[in-house]
Amino acid sequence: MRLVFLGAPGSGKGTQAALLVKRFDLGYVSTGDVFRQAVLDQTALGLQAKGYLDAGLLVPDEIVLGMIDQVLDGLLNKKGFILDGFPRTIPQAEKLEAILAAKHKPLDAVVSLEVAEESLVQRMLSRKRFDDTEETIRIRLATFHQQTEPLKAYYQKKGLLRQVDASKPVQEVFGSLVAILAQTASL
Ligand code: ADP
Repeated sequence: MRLVFLGAPGSGKGTQAALLVKRFDLGYVSTGDVFRQAVLDQTALGLQAKGYLDAGLLVPDEIVLGMIDQVLDGLLNKKGFILDGFPRTIPQAEKLEAILAAKHKPLDAVVSLEVAEESLVQRMLSRKRFDDTEETIRIRLATFHQQTEPLKAYYQKKGLLRQVDASKPVQEVFGSLVAILAQTASL
């Protein structure tokens, strides 16, 4: 089971991914976590990424594509994985496709977690992350609509998109996810 999680900031990708990872023993990576840790550790990558995270903007593809092979490396040996926060642009999706094709490990599904805009802002304001201020939240939502949402049509065309109503309580969303994935691939 090789999955990509798509969804606006605050849609619960990390929460649902953690539950699936535990249930099905999958590998997991959140590129947001990778960047936040790099910023905290003040690595070269962190120094490059910090301004974009603080501003609520995407880290440029050039930087993301330069580090992604390394990030995916360990994951590809697992029996399955969830990618959270990557790809976020069409060039990133194309790169991912090439990497996975070379390993003969194509994606099984791309799960889009759907939540109404007003709930997203409330959810994000109630968590305490350094990149969650009202201003960056607004910018991250706009960035999502402009740069990441087009991936839904991209994956729809490939027959991979699965949409889930993620406005419900956590356990209910998890139940729908498991049901959808059971129809999609061998778990
Ligand atoms: P959210 O989805 O809640 O906005 P994430 O934790 O997924 O948060 O990402 C936080 C930040 O990390 C983003 O605002 C962006 O600056 C950066 N980031 C994460 N993944 C990517 C990516 N694939 N491409 C570009 N920037 C990214």
